[in-house]
Amino acid sequence: MTSLAAAPSPSVRVRAPGKINLSLRVGPVEEDGYHPLVTVFQAVALHEEVTATEVADGVGLSLTVDGPQADRVPLDASNLAWRAAEVLAEHVGTSPDVALHLSKGVPVAGGMAGGSADAAATLVACDALWGAGLSRAELSGLAARLGSDVPFALLGHTAVGTGRGHLLTPAMSRGEFHWAFATRDEGLSTPAVYGRFDEMYGTTAPPVDVADDNGLMQALRAGDPTALGAALHNDLEPAALELRPELERTLEIARNGGALGAMVSGSGPTVAALARSRQHALAIAATWTAEDAADAVWCTTAPAAGARVL
Ligand code: ATP
Repeated sequence: MTSLAAAPSPSVRVRAPGKINLSLRVGPVEEDGYHPLVTVFQAVALHEEVTATEVADGVGLSLTVDGPQADRVPLDASNLAWRAAEVLAEHVGTSPDVALHLSKGVPVAGGMAGGSADAAATLVACDALWGAGLSRAELSGLAARLGSDVPFALLGHTAVGTGRGHLLTPAMSRGEFHWAFATRDEGLSTPAVYGRFDEMYGTTAPPVDVADDNGLMQALRAGDPTALGAALHNDLEPAALELRPELERTLEIARNGGALGAMVSGSGPTVAALARSRQHALAIAATWTAEDAADAVWCTTAPAAGARVL
């Protein structure tokens, strides 16, 4: 008698990138509690991979995670990937029967939107697995409901974000930039950073204006890392530094090491340093490690493509 191995369940694997905010301009808080933003996103070549595998009808959702910081990721409905599968299932009128596996390559809680990348990748993976055939515009609409960084993880490359950061206009960027990142195990809560920003600037923060990033956009179009380094901007940096003063030393080490620019990434606590080359990025990262100015270091390039099926 011949034994037949069960055929593997169909599955779809999707990769989506983390991001850096090359510029983050934050306006005065509005009545609904949100801040108007102008931000220049660039996707980085640190990726999340989501595998969506078919399960029998009625089995429901399950979630597993691997990667260096997997123990810090929730495995329940508070995970953005879980919510993405539910939102897509509801939209297409099916039940969210799927096994999701996340391979995390983006630092967790580092202001680099790894959870948002998981959500974007899950939308693309479940759309393919369930044969839903949604357009990118439809997926982007669902992405915006999940979080303001999720549409950019779908799009990738470089884009200007307005509104809450979710209204995206693709932007041109030439060549490849080299980055080093210093992450900390102890995260920094995004609401706490915005809260400190409000205490520092209240309603006196000037309104945001995309024209303030003209120099940065020119540096990107020219592929000029020196000009880009000089144009990096983060309105949340003073608030993040007040909450975590030790990040000053991490910035200083990068600058002393010849970084073309160094800043707190998004709401922190990750510090980002723009380097001249891959070797230079590795050297900055090595100094952070040697001087105990980071819990982990990461070197990568930007830009990178948005969520896509592998
Ligand atoms: P934020 O959008 O808050 O700036 P972040 O980019 O700093 O997020 P993430 O790694 O995306 O960092 O997630 C921050 C927190 O969200 C984590 O500490 C975790 O509790 C929760 N979370 C929800 N879903 C995920 C996910 N898929 N991966 C990682 N964390 C997640």
